[in-house]
Amino acid sequence: MASAVVSVATRRPTRQIRVGPVLVGGGAPVSVQSMTTTKTADVEGTLQQIYALAGAGADIVRCTCNEQEAAEGLARIVPRSPVPIVADIHFHVEMALAALDAGVQGLRLNPGNLRKPEEIKLVAAEARDRNVPIRIGVNAGSLHPALYERFGGATPEALVESARMELAYFDEVDFHDVKISVKASNVALMIAAYRLASETFDYPLHLGVTEAGPPPGGLVKATAGIATLLAEGIGDTIRYSLTADPVEEARAGRQLLEALGLRERKGLDLVACPSCGRAEIDVIKVAKEAQQALEERKIPLQVAVMGCVVNGPGEAREADIGIAAGRHRGHLFIKGKIVRVVPEDQMVEALVTEAEKIVAEGIEARLALADESAEREAAEDRAALFTEKGADANNAEEVVLRIRKHMAGGAASPDGAGSAAAPGPV
Ligand code: SF4
Repeated sequence: MASAVVSVATRRPTRQIRVGPVLVGGGAPVSVQSMTTTKTADVEGTLQQIYALAGAGADIVRCTCNEQEAAEGLARIVPRSPVPIVADIHFHVEMALAALDAGVQGLRLNPGNLRKPEEIKLVAAEARDRNVPIRIGVNAGSLHPALYERFGGATPEALVESARMELAYFDEVDFHDVKISVKASNVALMIAAYRLASETFDYPLHLGVTEAGPPPGGLVKATAGIATLLAEGIGDTIRYSLTADPVEEARAGRQLLEALGLRERKGLDLVACPSCGRAEIDVIKVAKEAQQALEERKIPLQVAVMGCVVNGPGEAREADIGIAAGRHRGHLFIKGKIVRVVPEDQMVEALVTEAEKIVAEGIEARLALADESAEREAAEDRAALFTEKGADANNAEEVVLRIRKHMAGGAASPDGAGSAAAPGPV
C-alpha cells in the first residue's frame, strides 16, 4: 500500500485550551514543556531552574506537588515564574487542591494513581471553577490494574480507555478544559497509543516518551516517538523525558520543533519576569523596548528583563545579560553578577550597549570590567526594598496559611492508593 504524503504543516484539528497565557491546541504553535528536578519547597533553587528552562525554550514548566511543603513552595513560585506552572499530582487529592490554592496554571493527574471517582470529580470541579486546565496523564507504567487485566497488558487500547474513563468523570461535573497524554517508554507502543488517542479524542495531545533515559539514547528514543507523531500532524505540546539536566529537555524540544518548521528559529532570546508585587518598573514596557532595540541590532544573546533587584539577578543568573530595577535605578548584570548601576531612564540604552560589547568582546572580558561598587550598591537597594515592601510582597504567605488551613481541616481524604507502586513523573 502506498504511504500517504504527509506534511508537518497539516495539523490535526483539536480544541484549544489555555495554560496561563500559553495556548495549546486549536492551531496554536506546538509548545515545549519540561519539568524541574529541584525540590519544589526550595523556592529559589526551583525558580532558578525555571528561568534556565524558559531560556532554553520551555513554554510551560511542571513541578512536582507531592507534599504540603511543595504546595507551599508553589504558592511562592507561581507569582514569580516567567512561564506557567503545572503541578504534577499522583496519589493525593489534597495535593491537587492545595496546588490549585497555590495558583498553578495547570494540573497533571495520573488516572492510574488517583483513582477514586469522587476525588477525581472534586478536583475537576475545583479546576473548572478556577479555569485551570488538567492534563490526563496516562502512563503505561502506572496503568490502572483493572485496565491492565481487562486488556491483557498496557496496550494502546488500554491507555486510551484510561483517558476515556477519566474524561467521563470530568464530564459529570461539566469540566472540559483538558489535554491528554498516553505515554510509554516503548516507542512503538507510544506511537500506536497516540495515533489511537488522536482518532478517539479532539482534545489537545501532550506528547512524550516516558523514561527515555540519558542522552544520546534517550534523545533518539524521544525524538523517534515525538517526531513521528508531529510529522503526522498529531501533538500540540511536547516533553522530552531525559535522565539529564532538564535544560537539555527544553533545548531538545525547541530544536525539534524548529527542525520540523513548527516553531521559528530564535536569534535573540529575551526572558522577562512576569512582574509581581515586588516590581519596581513596568516590566512589559521595558521588555518591549529592549526587545525591539536588541532585535534591530540582531543580538544573539539570552537577555533578561527583571522587575526588581531583590530577586531578578538571581532568578535569571543563567542569562548572558540582564537588567533589574530597584529604587529608580537599573542594575545591569552579566551571568547573575551585577556589573553596573545606571539611572532608571537609561536602563534599556545601557542594556543594549553592554549586549553589543559582550558580542564584540566576550562575556569574560566584560565581567572583568565590572564596576567594583556595583554589587555593594545592589545590596543596599535590595536591603532598602526589603524594608519598604517587607519579605512578602506577593502575599504568598497568606496563600500558604490558606493551604495549611485546608490541609489541617482535611478538605478531602487521601485517595488510599498509596499501596500502588509510585512511578516517577512522566
Ligand atoms: S518583580 Fe522581582 S520577584 Fe517579582 S517576578 Fe520580577 S524579578 Fe521576580
